[in-house]
Amino acid sequence: MDEQVDVVVVGGGNAGFSAAHAAVARGRSVLLLEKGQAGEAGGNSFYTAGAFRITHDGIPSVADLLDDDDDRLPVSELPPYPAEAYLADMAKVTSGNNDPELTAALVGDSQDALRWLHGLGLRFRLMYERQAYLDEATGRYTFWGGLAVGSTDGGKGLIAQHTAAAESAGVQIRYGVRAGELVVEDGRVRGVTWQDATGAAGTVYADSVVLAAGGFEADAEMRAEHLGAGWARAKVRGTPLNTGDMLRSALAIGAVPHGDWSTCHSVAWDARFPENESNRELTNQLTRGGYPLGIVVNTDGARFLDEGADYRNYTYAKYGAAILEQPGGQAFQVFDATTRSRLRAEEYDMPGASVVVADTVGELAAGMGVDPAALGRTIDDFNAGIDRSVPFDPAVKDGRASRVDPPKSNWAVPLETAPFYAFPVTCGITFTFGGLRADTGARVLDRSGNPIPGLFVCGEMLGGLFSGNYPGGTGLTSGAVFGRRAGSQA
Ligand SMILES: Cc1cc2nc3c(=O)[nH]c(=O)nc-3n(C[C@H](O)[C@H](O)[C@H](O)COP(=O)(O)OP(=O)(O)OC[C@H]3O[C@@H](n4cnc5c(N)ncnc54)[C@H](O)[C@@H]3O)c2cc1C
Repeated sequence: MDEQVDVVVVGGGNAGFSAAHAAVARGRSVLLLEKGQAGEAGGNSFYTAGAFRITHDGIPSVADLLDDDDDRLPVSELPPYPAEAYLADMAKVTSGNNDPELTAALVGDSQDALRWLHGLGLRFRLMYERQAYLDEATGRYTFWGGLAVGSTDGGKGLIAQHTAAAESAGVQIRYGVRAGELVVEDGRVRGVTWQDATGAAGTVYADSVVLAAGGFEADAEMRAEHLGAGWARAKVRGTPLNTGDMLRSALAIGAVPHGDWSTCHSVAWDARFPENESNRELTNQLTRGGYPLGIVVNTDGARFLDEGADYRNYTYAKYGAAILEQPGGQAFQVFDATTRSRLRAEEYDMPGASVVVADTVGELAAGMGVDPAALGRTIDDFNAGIDRSVPFDPAVKDGRASRVDPPKSNWAVPLETAPFYAFPVTCGITFTFGGLRADTGARVLDRSGNPIPGLFVCGEMLGGLFSGNYPGGTGLTSGAVFGRRAGSQA
């Protein structure tokens, strides 16, 4: 069961496919090993909303990348997102703990990588439903938060289109195959061992091995070891198959950890829906991203974060951890009739979404299992702290704050119009930030800072880009940029 190819790619998500496309285009024979069977493949990339954060100059600069069947385009505002803004956002959300060289490569290549994928047959659109607000008075849509372009049909479409492009270019894809140890001869990586569910096993020998097998978010033990004990109980939003296999294999042959192994991407996630882990049908719909329009309270009825600190894209990935720290790892997002209609239908009208609805705050608290007096006080204080002279505008950081502790810095709308809604949320883990050290060519580096010949890394396995927080839509862009770079050299 041994064989030889030019390039073996481990992992069939967005990063692995990007590497495979780039390598096969150079005439290399490419074998992609994917741990999941065909019906469970696609990695976290399958579960995504398909959002890609790229630099651009407004609609004219991206119009040719988009499906042309959207008649909202002429009435849309897309504020330009230059490289300086992307670089500043990366530094802001990571508190400067982002690798500057990798970040520069990510940002510099971001639009071009998307153009390249588009040229291979992948399709893109503007994400009106999650990144734009409609001004009903003018009929115009305004995009906010530096993120607008997404794959057509979300993560499911992204993986279907990647798979079709790879197959038509001649990439061999093998499902249900778990890669194991890296084979090293004379200091060079020569291949990787594998086994499948039938017990068959073997080694693929290759000139280059590209590691694109995701982080360790789906391994409760590794989470507890690196992120902390409480993380064993986080809900896995995406694939159950990213269990750190290839991180361990790479470290075992002298690759070096890089980036922040103690933090991860995690979000507010439906706490009570029965199948709220790795749900391939609902995927991203279990996210609860509407908190900037309401308040978030814990089971004591107390607020504990600034829901309006920034656009959702810059806070959502760290607020899962904040919820995990609350009693029972649980919280509630609270809205009233005024803001309920503005919440994204895909998430908040999800079939079976858990929610408590009531006509009074007291009844709401009773349904939540929270002390009514405590919740009442929180809401009264919040309402009283709002500067109502500042106009509300969800499409910009409107400065309409509630001066309470903690403050709500933008988009403060009083909770006073029945019915009231409480959505129970817990921490959903997305992916881990720690990975391997590599150069900007995606070559894995050893302890001396030299490339390990024959070994490349991309996607979640690449360490150094994120720490503590993350700007929405950057994971897929990173996979495309560094996957392409890996496949261009492998
Ligand atoms: C619900 C959800 C929504 C998200 N939305 C977005 C979004 O809109 N935009 C964005 O940028 N990011 C989003 N993300 C993050 C994004 O999914 C990741 O950053 C990105 O998909 C990672 O791509 P990847 O190719 O590195 O990993 P993956 O897509 O996870 O692929 C890794 C693959 O490796 C395979 N594998 C693991 N171990 C082995 C092994 N030993 N042998 C063989 N194969 C192996 C796995 O089965 C998997 O298929 C979201 C994530 C989730 C969970």
